[in-house]
Amino acid sequence: MSDRFYRDAQVNIDLDKIGQNYDAIKAEVNKKIIAVVKSNAYGHGSRAVARYLEEKGVDFFAVGTLDEAIELRMHGIKSKILVLGIINPKDINKAIQHRVAITAPSKEWLVGSLDSISEEYDKEVWIHIKVNGHMNRYGTKDIAEIKEMIELIHNSKYFVYEGLFSHFAMASVDKDHAVIEREEFKKIVDSVDTPEYIHISNTAGALLVEDEFTNAVRVGIGLYGYYPSEYTKKHTDVILQPALDLICQVADTHEVKKGETVGYDESFIAETDMSVVTIPIGYGDGLLRKHSGYHVEINGEQCQIVGRVCMDATMISSNAKRGDVVKIIVSDPNSRQSLENFSNYVDTISYESTCLLSRRLPRVYD
Ligand code: PLP
Repeated sequence: MSDRFYRDAQVNIDLDKIGQNYDAIKAEVNKKIIAVVKSNAYGHGSRAVARYLEEKGVDFFAVGTLDEAIELRMHGIKSKILVLGIINPKDINKAIQHRVAITAPSKEWLVGSLDSISEEYDKEVWIHIKVNGHMNRYGTKDIAEIKEMIELIHNSKYFVYEGLFSHFAMASVDKDHAVIEREEFKKIVDSVDTPEYIHISNTAGALLVEDEFTNAVRVGIGLYGYYPSEYTKKHTDVILQPALDLICQVADTHEVKKGETVGYDESFIAETDMSVVTIPIGYGDGLLRKHSGYHVEINGEQCQIVGRVCMDATMISSNAKRGDVVKIIVSDPNSRQSLENFSNYVDTISYESTCLLSRRLPRVYD
């Protein structure tokens, strides 16, 4: 356990594995990689991950919100940062001030942003136009509108037309279907003036869907060593290595007699006399209430969570001692404690599980 935090629970992150995943994906796609570090770098700690990757030579990051971009700037990240979400037009001055590239979803949004730019800024702001696709989430599919947006950008002294991008809905589940999405985007790219960066692929697209008309990919989950889906893993030769462990120490031990209960609502009733240990991690950290009944590893043994997971603590059937190490998630993808098993148990995906590892869990970097 680390002596830099006052908590016997931590997330260990091997930054070199993130670097190796970056190299593996880069070798496969041979395009510019935009490293996606939104949502606290999928729980891995955006400041540390961005700092490490920047030192490695990565010069383009993407985040979800303007606040995430400003946080990176405040912590010394100098590389280009694109905000993938839609900022409020009134906040455009903050994007200019912090030298952040932003996503434009519509002409109406661009006009609103232009109106909000304060005269005090004599710097320009980089714009990536978002082309909507099968996600129907952000952006426009209307070629006439996209052309008008490009013209508006060219005619403004504040805007720089830097990117044109879209996002796959199906790349991680059906690469043939993703080809349809890719071709729809290509049709738009072919009919308008093109900027420096053209991008559509996420990790699944980068690994499974080839093209010759884009020059950048936005890679998130793959950097952290996870495949976006079983389908992606099955269809690529690229080896990704998870970088994260979630461990803690036993905080307290109890002998529970047959018929006694454990946890809120007395939902667990001991069928025999048994030993129970308490660990200092709960749903406030990302071990969900739905993980009740899941097995963690203590001293090489699989031990079951009993009763309801609490906010800060969880009880486990085990005769371990106070201070023994408990492995909840380990980086080995073939282990019973893999993130995949942890996520499957609560019917979710690796993305959600790592994002939910809360900020109060210390991150310790190798
Ligand atoms: N681009 C956009 C617009 C996204 O929303 C995301 C993730 O949600 C990514 C790229 C990265 O996707 P992945 O983590 O699957 O690589």
